[in-house]
Amino acid sequence: MKSVDIIVIGGGLSGSATALGLVREGAGKVVLFDEHLPSQRLSRGNFGLTWFMCKGATHPVYAQWCRMAAQKWPDFAADLKEETGYDVELEWTGGAVHAFGEEEFNAHSQSVESLRKVCESVGIDYPVKMLDRSEFQDLIPNMQLGEDVTGAMYTSEQGHVNPLKLLTALRCAFQKKGGIFKGGESIGKIIPHKNGTVTVKTVKGSYQCEKLVIAAGHGSTRLLKSLGEKLHIYPSRGQLMVTERQKRMLRVPILCVRQTVDGTFLIGLTTEDTAMDTRTTAAAMKDEAINAIRLFPQLAKYNWVRAWGAIRVMTPDGAPIYSRVQGHDNITVLALHSAVSLAPMKISAIAPWILGKNEAEQLKHFTNGRFNNA
Ligand SMILES: Cc1cc2nc3c(=O)[nH]c(=O)nc-3n(C[C@H](O)[C@H](O)[C@H](O)COP(=O)(O)OP(=O)(O)OC[C@H]3O[C@@H](n4cnc5c(N)ncnc54)[C@H](O)[C@@H]3O)c2cc1C
Repeated sequence: MKSVDIIVIGGGLSGSATALGLVREGAGKVVLFDEHLPSQRLSRGNFGLTWFMCKGATHPVYAQWCRMAAQKWPDFAADLKEETGYDVELEWTGGAVHAFGEEEFNAHSQSVESLRKVCESVGIDYPVKMLDRSEFQDLIPNMQLGEDVTGAMYTSEQGHVNPLKLLTALRCAFQKKGGIFKGGESIGKIIPHKNGTVTVKTVKGSYQCEKLVIAAGHGSTRLLKSLGEKLHIYPSRGQLMVTERQKRMLRVPILCVRQTVDGTFLIGLTTEDTAMDTRTTAAAMKDEAINAIRLFPQLAKYNWVRAWGAIRVMTPDGAPIYSRVQGHDNITVLALHSAVSLAPMKISAIAPWILGKNEAEQLKHFTNGRFNNA
């Protein structure tokens, strides 16, 4: 049996960012396992927004956490580039959520004011404002707004990235710092011992570690169950469509449409209850296209060339689970939506917490146990 310091199960964005944080903290021999299941392409199938806007309306500490993450993103991306040479294509050009009609515009205004109060309650700002139609049009002069658009909520302090390059850069930085990445190796069994060490059995052999991190997306449910704990997550499918490349026109990402650095328009986002079914459907594509064309009529001229579905990891209150497994202080579980936006927190807060170096004040609000009586 091989002996290592820390094992991280799951090489998606959560596991890879955490593993990088651990090696940056000098955690010793860290091994990251990923089973590479085609159905678990969440970290490759997302929209790539690095946002705080609209998050945490019913969970002030989550609002604070998202804002902290957004503030860290520019340095986080610069560090990854310096360490690996990978440019994750961060564009810090803000972000907007459009409104159709007066009613939706007023609802957006109210939600901005209400989140501003939520943020005040935890001592942070909420730099989001409403733009009327002409202000919104001035922000994106090369995209003609559809006639139903009345304005948008907007902040200049967030952006978007290429999630594929982000995942590559994280894994690359981890390995450059001495971490060991084992792709295509699935963890079948976890055996905790009385002395606090843990044995994990993979398809290829057994490993003993001092600390274990379970960041296996939907795969974490089975692993936690084997440790006697229910993980409070549920699946939610999102479908995305991609157009052929165009010259750059849209520099500010909108919640349902963004243009990537290489010119494709990414169009989303559905929220569907389909268990673990990742298929795409014509009905969802049609709805997404209608909505996007209502926002930007010129999108009707571009061919749609690709689509996919991916299954979000959702929690009942939308905020992350960062939690010690009950009765096993050396085993941590990380399960969340918005792992792109929150990636910098894995480095600055989660990795040091796993190592017992410090505990961010917010973490007690993100336990798995908070849902036990819900
Ligand atoms: C349509 C859509 C749009 C999204 N848009 C955004 C966005 O704009 N911004 C944002 O921040 N977030 C977005 N998200 C959410 C984001 O993609 C996820 O939060 C993130 O990918 C979760 O990463 P993860 O590492 O936790 O999980 P995963 O990506 O699922 O990674 C878990 C990994 O664990 C591995 N694994 C599972 N079981 C085992 C095992 N037993 N042994 C070894 N390995 C195992 C799997 O192979 C997998 O690679 C979006 C999601 C969807 C579906």
